[in-house]
Amino acid sequence: DNPIQRKPDWIRVKAPTHPIYHETRALMRENRLVTVCEEAACPNIGECWSQRHATMMIMGETCTRACAFCNVATGMPNPLDTDEPRRVGDAVAKLGLRHVVITSVDRDDLKDGGALHFAQTIAAIRNATPETTIEILTPDFLRKDGALEVVVAARPDVFNHNLETVPRLYPTIRPGARYFHSLRLLDQVKELDPTIFTKSGIMVGLGEQRGEVLQVMDDLRSAEVDFLTIGQYLQPTVKHAAVDRFVPPAEFDDYAAMARAKGFLLVSATPLTRSSYHADRDFAALRAA
Ligand code: SF4
Ligand code: SF4
Repeated sequence: DNPIQRKPDWIRVKAPTHPIYHETRALMRENRLVTVCEEAACPNIGECWSQRHATMMIMGETCTRACAFCNVATGMPNPLDTDEPRRVGDAVAKLGLRHVVITSVDRDDLKDGGALHFAQTIAAIRNATPETTIEILTPDFLRKDGALEVVVAARPDVFNHNLETVPRLYPTIRPGARYFHSLRLLDQVKELDPTIFTKSGIMVGLGEQRGEVLQVMDDLRSAEVDFLTIGQYLQPTVKHAAVDRFVPPAEFDDYAAMARAKGFLLVSATPLTRSSYHADRDFAALRAA
């Protein structure tokens, strides 16, 4: 037993017992959809699924990357399921979501990194439920020329790509990715279509310093990124990167205040914040403002 991995009492998670949780789960099974909520063993699943807020993960369950913090299996993925966009659209309509978050595994094996599949999924959701706002959380499309343009042309409402951690920790935490490439990707989205909101996030508790987190915020603001999420890293299994420390709630409040002062339009910084946590509620509040 490693005492540092014992969760502090501010990380409390409700057990999933709500009837709607089971309905959401059944719908995901019926439509043969994968969710990041399950694949990432997200601690918020009880709360989110009780409100039908499930984040679907497209393009399979196997990722071509092996990030040290991530619970998704690494390997050679199956070919794309061309009917998946339709099933996602159908599920979003049945869930009655006003805002949906769609993410994916990384598909370095595909020529376009899965850009067209993302675009087709956005189109299928628009077709099935035109009022729903769409947030996508994408891979980095590293060395996939023209891929970003295809995704942006599909006009998601929010384009999210996570930096995940500070640049110094990339070699150990996010090998295979490049900090400045990811930052540039977000910058390019704004260049291609300034009407799309951009969003990014990091995990803390991996060994980063406060100054490094503030630098990431500045980098994101220079790329005109609109929304920021910061959450506590939790180790999915003993094979994953260990938690360096559990960041106390007061430090999250400090990060949130700093981020707002730096000009982010939406900020979520709490121990249980995840990219998609309360994304529906927060986006609706912004639109109503
Ligand atoms: Fe799913 Fe996101 Fe909620 Fe976690 S926070 S359960 S990943 S929707
Ligand atoms: Fe997990 Fe994404 Fe990294 Fe793949 S690219 S291992 S899905 S965080």
